[in-house]
Amino acid sequence: MGRAFVYVVLGGGVAAGYAALEFARRGGYSRGELCIISEEAVAPYERPALSKGYLLPEDPSRLPKFHTCVGANDELLTTKWYKEQGIELVLGTRVISADVRRKTLLTATGETISYKTLIIATGARALKLEEFGISGSDAANICYLRNLEDADKLVNAMSSCSGGNAVVIGGGYIGMECAAALVTNKIKVTMVFPEKHCMGRLFTEKIAEYYESYYTSKGVTFTKGTVLTSFEKDSTGKVTSVVLRDGNHLPADMVVVGIGIRANTSLFEGQLLMEKGGIKVNGQMQTSDSSVYAVGDVAAFPIKLFDGDIRRLEHVDSARRTARHAVAAILEPSKTRDVDYLPFFYSRVFTLSWQFYGDNVGEVIHYGDFTSNSPMFGAYWVSKGQITGAFLEGGNRDDYEALSVVVRRKTKVSDMPELERQGLAFAIQE
Ligand code: FAD
Repeated sequence: MGRAFVYVVLGGGVAAGYAALEFARRGGYSRGELCIISEEAVAPYERPALSKGYLLPEDPSRLPKFHTCVGANDELLTTKWYKEQGIELVLGTRVISADVRRKTLLTATGETISYKTLIIATGARALKLEEFGISGSDAANICYLRNLEDADKLVNAMSSCSGGNAVVIGGGYIGMECAAALVTNKIKVTMVFPEKHCMGRLFTEKIAEYYESYYTSKGVTFTKGTVLTSFEKDSTGKVTSVVLRDGNHLPADMVVVGIGIRANTSLFEGQLLMEKGGIKVNGQMQTSDSSVYAVGDVAAFPIKLFDGDIRRLEHVDSARRTARHAVAAILEPSKTRDVDYLPFFYSRVFTLSWQFYGDNVGEVIHYGDFTSNSPMFGAYWVSKGQITGAFLEGGNRDDYEALSVVVRRKTKVSDMPELERQGLAFAIQE
């Protein structure tokens, strides 16, 4: 049993949706030549919605509202749209092996799908506690958050937990966004993570301090510098408390685990070059096999701005742009320059909202008001006399645009105290 396509997108997440839009805009295929294969049962959607609008107690966002590409203020691609465009959606279908030499994929249902050009957009999966030697994370009231199924489990757990206790394991953005959602759903939250402060990979201590005290004012308790070692469960197998390495037992009606992700590379290991935990690509998003491209969370690609350093980014904007770039490179290789991406990441919690551009390396200076409940503060990272990164909480569109420009230009900084004094104005007047 088998089908043949010219173009196959493997994975049906954010990158797949934006790749489809780019194919349709460029019109570089005929009906039935392009297919998207996804393990998920629904057409591509904006994954960040799962920890934001989807978890709201009132008027939560539901599909089809957040299919791609509404996150970039673009067209809403429903199943109907794919049909109209002649793009085959092969949903609810897991690919279990790939043969790059033969240009075939084998699905769990036993179908062989062949391609001329493949775009790998398999994204990443949530790391499980079992991978850290802790068992029992399949309990009904332990939640992860990567896909719609996880989000539904979380929503169900929250609805039977009002007024109860939740423990959030992990202090990254999934942990932070879920903790905010739990509080909004009137659930008491304790966050547990081993680092000194939340968002350890990005935030400085000063920035983290602001968010932690804001969360504390909303009733969140922080238990830092420790990890969980096991769960206590009742006779039905539900978790009743979380046991920590420091000996404490935290009562828990539900647990949310956000301890990181791993790129879904396994189908291609030994067949394509890997780097930084992802599939290595060049500036055209092309892998070590010229018929295969990789985009989104699974791709490790050169960042021109960082002198060609290869990075694997786990952010939605990168998924959108790399996907579109790959399609441009496939359809119009001679007209498509190497990708020149400015790393960008954002998060929204409660009424707060921040954005970050560039790389958080070098010396940091902070500016702005770190005291208010509707704050406006930020930070610049400066290395070798040039801006390398910029963070801002509470800015408007023009502010963020100005920051992105100074990071992209690697604007020179000769006087650090002056940069600190000027703060956001430094970027705006540039
Ligand atoms: P994904 O969107 O993960 O899509 C991968 C797809 O591949 C999935 O459909 C998966 O089922 C499918 N797949 C994988 N393996 C197979 C297989 N073998 N066979 C068939 N199908 C397969 N980023 C931000 O910048 N800001 C945010 O605020 C933010 N919030 C987020 C909130 C949540 C809850 C999550 C989970 C992520 C968030 N992100 C955020 C990150 C962002 O969503 C990802 O960077 C983005 O989804 C990556 O897109 P992708 O297409 O590479 O992977």
